[in-house]
Amino acid sequence: MPVCPNCEYEYTEGVTFCPDCQTQLLDDKYYTKPEDWTEENWVLAFTTNMEYEAEMMRDNLLGAEIKAAVLSQKDRSFPGSGDLSVVKLFVRKEDLASALAFIEKIKSEQTGEDDDQ
Ligand SMILES: [Zn+2]
Repeated sequence: MPVCPNCEYEYTEGVTFCPDCQTQLLDDKYYTKPEDWTEENWVLAFTTNMEYEAEMMRDNLLGAEIKAAVLSQKDRSFPGSGDLSVVKLFVRKEDLASALAFIEKIKSEQTGEDDDQ
C-alpha cells in the first residue's frame, strides 16, 4: 500500500502522489514504523538521500540513548535516476531538541575533522 510520509495516510495501489500535499507516496514495505509509533509522538529530525548517513545518525543517537528510527525508500520508479532514495530519521517528540542538538554536533564534528591540526 502506498503511504504518504507527510500525512501518514494510506492510499490505494496505483496512487503515486498524495492528493493533499503532492508528496510522492512511499511503498509501506520501505516504511516500517517503530512499535510504539504514533503520529503525535514521533517527529522528523533529519532527512538525507544517503541511507548510511541516516543509519550512522541513528546509531549515534541510540548510543546517546535517544530512540531513533530510519524510514527509507529505495525509489526505482524514476528510470535512469539510479539509486535515488529518500531516507528519513525520526525521533520521539520529547527527544527532538536533544536529537537536533546531537545531529548538529555530529555534523560539525564531521566537517571539522581536518581542522584540528
Ligand atoms: Zn500527504
